[in-house]
Amino acid sequence: MSTPSRPVTAPHVDVERVLYSAEEIRTGIERVAREITLAFEGHELTVVGVLKGSCVFVADLIRLLPLSIRLAFVWAESYREGTTPGELELLGVPPESEIRQQHVLLVDDILDSGRTLAAVREVLERRGAGVVRTCVFLDKPVRRTAALEADFRCFEVGDEFVVGYGLDFAGRYRNLPYVGSLRPAVLRAAGVEAPA
Ligand code: 5GP
Ligand code: MG
Repeated sequence: MSTPSRPVTAPHVDVERVLYSAEEIRTGIERVAREITLAFEGHELTVVGVLKGSCVFVADLIRLLPLSIRLAFVWAESYREGTTPGELELLGVPPESEIRQQHVLLVDDILDSGRTLAAVREVLERRGAGVVRTCVFLDKPVRRTAALEADFRCFEVGDEFVVGYGLDFAGRYRNLPYVGSLRPAVLRAAGVEAPA
């Protein structure tokens, strides 16, 4: 007799709640892709993704942009362990030859305090970027401290820690095809105080 298995569509056992399903994500990205296409029509676009979190979003987004696109990445390391930010470090910033006078679309997984995108935008502007627009998969406006709003965004989230679709917790869950919150017990087991 075979053991009943979980359906492949069931959320990961560590996920408490699915906020955005794979289908909803697809619809959100299609809408944003139309907005970006209209905004940059007639221009060559350099997409700069912030690693690692933006990798899934960037891959889906650029395939919906019928524009002439060049792709670059920058590494931003801030979340060490847990759910609170550490020191921000930028690595592998694209050289001036890739950025100067270009129309740049800076893409990240989530806009939280805003300090990551503000820092990356500043360094790209110092390297002579022509126009820099920002695009985020998720926007968490209640946590903003930097004077920065995204030009394009797929979804808004409240003040909770989310994973999936590129977003990690201690390096895991980036491969989940949906966005979800983690069970408090999972956060506690990793020594992180679960948000109220
Ligand atoms: P910011 O610099 O805007 O405060 O934070 C941006 C970075 O913090 C994101 O690129 C992401 O790596 C991380 N971050 C912020 N909020 C969350 C969250 O809810 N979940 C995850 N997994 N990462 C987050
Ligand atoms: Mg990130």
